[in-house]
Amino acid sequence: MKVNNAVSCLNDQPMNPKLLFWIPALLRVFFILLGSAVVGWLFGPVYGLGVALLAVLSLLIVQLDYLHKLGSWLDDPQSTRLPDGWGSWTNIFSRLYRLRRDDERNQSELTEWLARFRQAMHLLPDGVAIMDDVLFLEWCNPAAERHLGLTLEKDKGMRVTNLIRHPDFIDYIILGRYEQPLTLSLRDRKLICQIIPFENRRQILVTHDATETQRIEEMRRDFIANASHELRTPLTVIVGFLEIASSEPDLDAGTRASHLKLMTEQGRRMQVLIEDMLTLSRLESVDYPLRPERVDIKTMVEDIAQEARALSNGQHLVTTTVEGPDVTGSAEELRSAFGNLASNAVRYTPSGGTIHLIWQNTPEGPQFVASDTGIGIDQIHIARLTERFYRVDKSRSRETQGTGLGLAIVKHVLLRHGGNLCIKSEAGKGSNFIVTLPPALIAA
Ligand code: ADP
Repeated sequence: MKVNNAVSCLNDQPMNPKLLFWIPALLRVFFILLGSAVVGWLFGPVYGLGVALLAVLSLLIVQLDYLHKLGSWLDDPQSTRLPDGWGSWTNIFSRLYRLRRDDERNQSELTEWLARFRQAMHLLPDGVAIMDDVLFLEWCNPAAERHLGLTLEKDKGMRVTNLIRHPDFIDYIILGRYEQPLTLSLRDRKLICQIIPFENRRQILVTHDATETQRIEEMRRDFIANASHELRTPLTVIVGFLEIASSEPDLDAGTRASHLKLMTEQGRRMQVLIEDMLTLSRLESVDYPLRPERVDIKTMVEDIAQEARALSNGQHLVTTTVEGPDVTGSAEELRSAFGNLASNAVRYTPSGGTIHLIWQNTPEGPQFVASDTGIGIDQIHIARLTERFYRVDKSRSRETQGTGLGLAIVKHVLLRHGGNLCIKSEAGKGSNFIVTLPPALIAA
């Protein structure tokens, strides 16, 4: 192939380009002169001159042919079909080949980089929008489209302040204090935006979706406030009684005994609360992986029913139906989740009611159902019941020793087992708390 010629040229020891030009040129002149001298000597000077003219003409035609080939190659330069050359043309073509090959390599590297850059920009969770010096949109990645409600195809070339018409954003642009990021509430999202000028004539708008971070931060703040509040109430009672005991040393034995009883109750309340908080934090911790084992559900449900009867103190009828298979999971965690549901059923069912604990297999997977004929829950509360410290009736929850963390613990146990909780309830009629575990957890 012609290219091979050029490649082999490249591999040879590079020759001085001047020599490459002059040696063949002088050789050609020498042979023409020699040929025409011989012909002139043999047939006379006219024939000699004719031969010389013919030779020069044919050389000219060859050179013009090469020029033509070069011209057509330049129209569509490709390193794979370079014309073959002779004499100094070999050198010219091999140089062209090298230039073209480098060019092609650079171009393919550049295309590869661009594709990689585009892919990275597509995958970037943060939004990036490039604008010119007067804030006309030039390009943006999909995250920026999502965050700012833009469509690159449609909005390209439009002024960003016309596309994002939030007053805080407009102020940010007017003030031009770009060293500070701007927190923007846009389309139900909390965005952190910052403009970074670059290249003198361009600016990048970077957006970061902080909705989830802010939600977690809010949850953390709420949790601390709620936990402190929950602990403060029993502590206030205990401290109050302790102050009475120290300021009135002559309290009669009966009063002192009742104060001690109340203090013990409040102390226990704090203990249960702290235990529930520790359980929750353990369930959320990545350092506390699930340790699956075969769980004997029949024994577990019967034990839970026994505890429910003890809690009910004979005020309810507690029955069980166990038909489902054993499962693989954390016995301790499942016991805690099912136990919480059973104890809630007792605590939120007035005396004389019925609690039915069921373990059954269904096409969706094995199910634990805690069914009661208790006070029930209004629909508006159901979606929020698994939030920490969320209670429908605070005083009733406290009266029945509730911490407000029971259903949050259930939710986390189920998250760790891939299960889900469905709550069906009607105010005044009773509730069904249905836990469904994945069929894959059925023990062999
Ligand atoms: P608590 O310790 O207050 O019971 P939970 O997280 O276990 O906290 O439950 C949250 C709230 O859900 C309770 O305060 C109660 O209002 C409601 N609840 C839970 N189970 C039942 C039930 N079986 N019947 C009626 N309401 C219930």
